[in-house]
Amino acid sequence: MRLSHVVAALEDFYDPAWAEPWDAVGLVCGDPDQEVGRVMFAVDPVAAVVEEALGWGADLLVTHHPLLLRPVHGVAATTPKGRLIHRLITHGTALFTAHTNADVADPGVSDALARAVGLTGPLRPLAPSDSDPRRGIGRIGTLDEPLPLHEFASRAVAGLPRTAWGLRVAGDPDRMIRTVAVCGGAGDSLLDRARAADVDVYLTADLRHHPASEFGEHEGPALIDAAHWATEWPWLPEAQRRLTGALDVKTRVSTRVTDSWTLSCTSEGVEKIP
Ligand SMILES: [Zn+2]
Repeated sequence: MRLSHVVAALEDFYDPAWAEPWDAVGLVCGDPDQEVGRVMFAVDPVAAVVEEALGWGADLLVTHHPLLLRPVHGVAATTPKGRLIHRLITHGTALFTAHTNADVADPGVSDALARAVGLTGPLRPLAPSDSDPRRGIGRIGTLDEPLPLHEFASRAVAGLPRTAWGLRVAGDPDRMIRTVAVCGGAGDSLLDRARAADVDVYLTADLRHHPASEFGEHEGPALIDAAHWATEWPWLPEAQRRLTGALDVKTRVSTRVTDSWTLSCTSEGVEKIP
């Protein structure tokens, strides 16, 4: 199968026109006419992931995060990113990115996150897109049975891949949770939306002190802050399932933890993860 066919299928699921104007999505390297038999999915285009892809014999690596988000003047193998481009091209492995276009897709990154943390019913976008209210950033859904916040958090952490970050929770641990908003990746831009949506908890990543503190002063939803990578990883098996449903290719989802943090240090002790 030609790369152009695989790219067409991926762009059918994750239309590049849905990406934010600042984003860089689509084919990063690769010849549309090259043959593709093996496709690997990962969150981050980092050296360990590229080596895993080459070791497995991937013809195409699909990542959520762009390798080259900002303009570059060269890809010499003297920089980490240039080296990755060289490794990929010399091994004939293409690289494709589906980023904010995968975030807003239906189903997209936050649907997979919502399922991973235990939301089983219908989901709707937290911030619907202007052109189609079925798409958008974040998702809102409900739990089958209300749960205390601490119990929802322990289910959520069990449903997500393990990281040194784990989960941080803000709010009354015994508060009952029924309605949940989630946003894969950095979701602090949707804090006001989550508050206006009148949900019981908002789970996202990359929450900083001041936005979280100010949010808490409103006595609105509880907050859960997860590792950025962990909130986006559940999308990979979903994208894999869609691709194998459409095309006859071998696929693999990288389980390598590419969250940056590798030690969890608390007063209880130090734990190395993974
Ligand atoms: Zn992200």
